[in-house]
Amino acid sequence: MLVIKTLVWFRQDLRLRDNPALSYAAQKGCVIPVYIDDQSCPEQYTLGGASKWWLHHSLNSLNNSLDNKLHCQTGDAKQIILAWVKKYNITCVVWNRCYEPWQIKRDTIIKQSLKDLGVEVKTFNASLLWEPWQVLKKDATPYKVFTPYYRRGCLSQPAPRMPITAPEKLDIEYVEQEDQSIHALHLLPTIAWDKTIQTIWQPGEKGASAKLADFLPNGANQYKSDRDTPSLSATSQLSAHLHFGEISPNQIWYAAIHALNGNTENVGLDCYLSELGWREFSYYLLYHFPTIPEQNFSPKFEHFQWRDDVSALKAWQQGQTGIPMVDAGMRELWQTGTMHNRVRMLVGSFLVKNLLIDWRKGAAWFWDCLLDADLASNSASWQWVAGTGADASPYFRIFNPVTQGQKFDAKGDYVRQYCPELAKLPDKYIHTPWEAPPAILSACKITLGDTYPKPIVDLKASRQRALDTLQISKKLA
Ligand code: FAD
Repeated sequence: MLVIKTLVWFRQDLRLRDNPALSYAAQKGCVIPVYIDDQSCPEQYTLGGASKWWLHHSLNSLNNSLDNKLHCQTGDAKQIILAWVKKYNITCVVWNRCYEPWQIKRDTIIKQSLKDLGVEVKTFNASLLWEPWQVLKKDATPYKVFTPYYRRGCLSQPAPRMPITAPEKLDIEYVEQEDQSIHALHLLPTIAWDKTIQTIWQPGEKGASAKLADFLPNGANQYKSDRDTPSLSATSQLSAHLHFGEISPNQIWYAAIHALNGNTENVGLDCYLSELGWREFSYYLLYHFPTIPEQNFSPKFEHFQWRDDVSALKAWQQGQTGIPMVDAGMRELWQTGTMHNRVRMLVGSFLVKNLLIDWRKGAAWFWDCLLDADLASNSASWQWVAGTGADASPYFRIFNPVTQGQKFDAKGDYVRQYCPELAKLPDKYIHTPWEAPPAILSACKITLGDTYPKPIVDLKASRQRALDTLQISKKLA
């Protein structure tokens, strides 16, 4: 009798619940779960340091759930899969779809090669509420603006798929000699920068469920009013869990609706669901416009004259710009592996507009430091902040990090947490230490240029410089 053996290729779906590929394989018979650290990944898309840390722990968590029977391999994904199929008489290969352009290309080739060998291949949607090709304008072209995309395009589609439960029984085949351990993937850092991060995050399916349970139902109620206050933990903190597929957007979507008793009039719920919509939109843009990680979406910026200022870039990366909200954000990123969304927008605007540094350099730093680094969301968001993207905030709309701080961190709690050297400053000067009278600075033991930097740019003059540079680039276009 032919034994049906299905290779389940885990990628960004590191979970048992609501995992359509795994459920399909479990129904067919024997399952061989494999994770591949794919060496065919182009250099610029290899994981950053923070993501590697997360992945290591997430794979450990998945491996536990699979009774320590997850196979981990390093090498070329196509070669590994084809070799395994032949060696272990695998009759079916399944995976959940990924959407980075190089992944789509690779998966198409692997699928065809397997079909040529007579192997059944099945792929599933496990990470998006709506497939990008499903939502198009009346003229069959993709949307470029979020609101019509989400409200008119997505919400008029059939409701997202309901989540499915984990397979009741898994018959897992384990092939000892072929294995590498998760440790052998060398994902953990060699320098221990992750000490604080370890205490904050719990990668894996359990950690994801716990975060969701924490956030719902109360968090979602307050979401609209509190989500812009960086000192509050008022957002769901699910982005890294979502990126690695430890939870699906479908699970979150329906859990949020359920927690608020399906009350779609609830502004918190609508606002929260629409943030999941922004995630969908980022994937949608990446799918339809695959050059967004590298090229300005808007060709108007082709001739934009970015500054090549290594020391300003370093000051920004290290949270030493002398602008408290910017420094607090950059230090939050370094210490915790994340940064509040409001602050991501203003540090991004500061880099691109006040410092005139190319948004791709900011995106690269985020890629390395963010635990939730995600090619779709990071690229689309940076282009949005820079004013170069689809549906972008217009270039001339320049965030002022002082007024942003005064509005969203009025008492300075966030700045005091990440810039403790400013903690004693009265609220009035917490966002503008350079305006504090010498007596106050001295009473607070602050010496600008020594204990805390002087601003590396004048906000007003650098704003004007950005607008002037835009005018020049328009003339050159
Ligand atoms: P919540 O507010 O609880 O939102 C729920 C979920 O919706 C998030 O987990 C996330 O998956 C999604 N979401 C929320 N806001 C956005 C958004 N603006 N764009 C896309 N998805 C969104 N998000 C990433 O996941 N990875 C990135 O690499 C990334 N880079 C960013 C870079 C910049 C410059 C900016 C301005 C934003 C970036 N974001 C990125 C979007 C956003 O900041 C994070 O998704 C959010 O802060 C995560 O926190 P949360 O899970 O508590 O979000």
